[in-house]
Amino acid sequence: MHDMLNEEERMTQQVNVTVGEPFGAGHGAIHASLETQEEYEQLAGDVKNHIAPVAEGAPSSCIDGREAVSCMDGEATEARPGVAGGGLISAYAAAELAGLIPESITSQDNKLRHVHDKLSSAGLVSGGHCDKSNADEGFAAGGTGCGANDRLPQILENLHNDKAVVDGLTSVLMGDGYQAELTEYVNSETLQSRHATWNKTAFINELGAETGHNVEILASEHTPTHGHAEQAVVFNFVENTTVDRDALIEATGKQVFDVDVWYLSKIAAALAADSTDASAESRAMHALVAYQAATYLTLCDGSQRPIIVSAV
Ligand SMILES: [Zn+2]
Repeated sequence: MHDMLNEEERMTQQVNVTVGEPFGAGHGAIHASLETQEEYEQLAGDVKNHIAPVAEGAPSSCIDGREAVSCMDGEATEARPGVAGGGLISAYAAAELAGLIPESITSQDNKLRHVHDKLSSAGLVSGGHCDKSNADEGFAAGGTGCGANDRLPQILENLHNDKAVVDGLTSVLMGDGYQAELTEYVNSETLQSRHATWNKTAFINELGAETGHNVEILASEHTPTHGHAEQAVVFNFVENTTVDRDALIEATGKQVFDVDVWYLSKIAAALAADSTDASAESRAMHALVAYQAATYLTLCDGSQRPIIVSAV
C-alpha cells in the first residue's frame, strides 16, 4: 500500500493537464454545468490528482463517468482503462469501420467473439459495463445502459454524417500520425444494413461467459440522462494510467468521461496483429479514435471541454 501511494504521488507530478475550448457540437442530452475557464482549470487539477495506475491485466471499461456500484460478480471494481463502451465494443466498432473483420464471419455473436479473441491473444482483458437500473430489471427493456453500446448503430451513422467534425478531432488527437486517407471507412449504408438488428445485450453475454468481474455496474438515476453529468472529456495519453473515476466523484462530486488514448493504441495493435496490410494498425487507430469522437457527438450537447493529460 505504501509503495502504491508513492507511485501515485510520483505520477501526479509527472503529468501535464491542459483544458481546451468547448467541443461546440453534439446531438445528445448530456450537458456540462461548468462554464468558465477558471472552473475547468479547477476540474483539470482535480483530474490530475486522480490519475491512478492501471494494474497489469485489468479489464477495460467504458469512458462513462458514473460511479461504480460493483461488478456483475458482486465484487468491487478497480482502476480500469476507459474507451467508449469498453475494449470489446470500441474494438468491434473500429474493426467494422476499418473492414478488419473477415467477410466470412457474419453474425453479431461471431463477430464479437472474433474481436474478443484478437484482444485476448494480445493479452488485453476485455471489459464493459451496464447500469444499475437495467441490471435490476434483468435487461428486460433490451438495453444495457451503456450508450456507446446501446446506440452503436446511431454512433456509426453520426460518424459518417458529421465526418468533418470527427476527422477534425481524430486529427488533433493523433497529431503527426493522422493520415486523411486512412479515414476512408466502410460506407454508412453498409454499416446501417449490418446493424439494423443490433443486439444490445450480446456483449454482456460474451464478456460474462468469461467472468462477471469484467462487467461493471454503474450507478444510474431516473433522469432524462440516467444520472450522466459529465463535465469534460479527458483524453489521457499517459500509458498504464487512468482517471480514478470513483475517487474523483467521492472527492469532488464531479463526473468526467475518460478516454485512455494509450489503450486505444494497444487495441489497434491487437486488431492488426496478423494482418498482411501494413496500414492495418494505423487504420484501426484512426477508426478507434473516430468512434470515441462520434460517441461524444451522439451522447452530449457540445458544452463539455476536453482535458488533455500527457506525460511531462
Ligand atoms: Zn458505456
